[in-house]
Amino acid sequence: MAADARPDLLSLTPVELRASLEEHFSSRGQPSYRAGQVEKWIYERLASSVDEMTDLPAAEREALSEAFRIDEPVPDTVQRSKDGTVKHLWRLADGELVESVLIPTERRLTLCISSQAGCAMGCTFCATGWGGFDRHLTPGEIAGQYRASRRWADENDSGPISNIVYMGMGEPLANRNAIHPSLTILNQGYGVGARRITVSTVGVVPGIVELAERPEQFRLALSLHAPSSELRRELIPLERRHPLPEVLAALERFDDGGGKRITFEYTMIAGVNDAPQLIGPLGDLALRVHAFVNLIPFNPIPYQSWGPSSPERIRDFERGLAARGVSVAVRETRGRDIDAACGQLRGHTLVQIDRKRARAKV
Ligand code: SAH
Ligand code: SF4
Repeated sequence: MAADARPDLLSLTPVELRASLEEHFSSRGQPSYRAGQVEKWIYERLASSVDEMTDLPAAEREALSEAFRIDEPVPDTVQRSKDGTVKHLWRLADGELVESVLIPTERRLTLCISSQAGCAMGCTFCATGWGGFDRHLTPGEIAGQYRASRRWADENDSGPISNIVYMGMGEPLANRNAIHPSLTILNQGYGVGARRITVSTVGVVPGIVELAERPEQFRLALSLHAPSSELRRELIPLERRHPLPEVLAALERFDDGGGKRITFEYTMIAGVNDAPQLIGPLGDLALRVHAFVNLIPFNPIPYQSWGPSSPERIRDFERGLAARGVSVAVRETRGRDIDAACGQLRGHTLVQIDRKRARAKV
């Protein structure tokens, strides 16, 4: 990455931003209300450059740009699905590419954001996993997807973004140095309620514990996909490092946190993890940590011949879990025609991924 020593205004938490700006303006003999003006430009007016901050004197704009940068992701392409789902491919300052998805439903507009360029976890059912890991995103690059998407939604009359899910590319809890500040920035800076933000993890135990200890009520989704360690190991390499019993113990701590909500994501793959005898063990786990279960039909990806479970089998799971007293829903698949559905995000073309994989093998 090009070395740029200037702090990125979008990566600072609101407390850090206030302190840095006050110090900057006081060193220039400027009144302290200048800090408040800049905060407004960042969090309310979503300025993506210092030049836009027209209520600062020209000399102050220049000094501010010399001291700080604003690295917002720039739209590279935008694709719209026939079901209204919108996928953005963002270009970051070093040329890296990541994706985010806007998903409109009747009463909500959910934004699905990426936490890393690529992912190192290598889950066998996920296109991001097959593409390998490029780098962590910064807090500003994570929050920047929200800013840029909000601006796009405004300009296209799509309404306000009501929910944010960390379910795009990457494993958020493998990038905790950036995830924690990004949550603070979205919540305290941009005012997105903690209960409207969901962090999805494949089971990074130390990260679950850290989230359990945070005072805010961010929601947690565990990508479970199998109710036993043996089966889970075949889908998720991380299961060997953090086996299911350890993950569940961490989830119990999260659940004990009071008012915090856990969701299990269960991607249903025909003949792999949809045997009816798995319904009982899955229900037991959900009841143990009071988890809501989302059943997700598997979305086809290159490199894998697997297909989704039949609608009847998914129905069987839904009914079986409900009969055991588990709250459950079948998640409607959105944006498959533009490769925007769960697990389909790649950030790069298949040709680029093939080249990268070939290089990695050398
Ligand atoms: N790394 C995090 C968040 C990103 S993945 C995690 O794994 O939780 C977002 C969700 O999509 C996860 O629940 C993941 O298991 C699911 N997913 C991945 N590949 C999929 C596929 N091909 N079909 C359906 N869901 C998939
Ligand atoms: Fe990474 Fe999540 Fe995909 Fe697994 S499912 S490879 S953790 S993005």
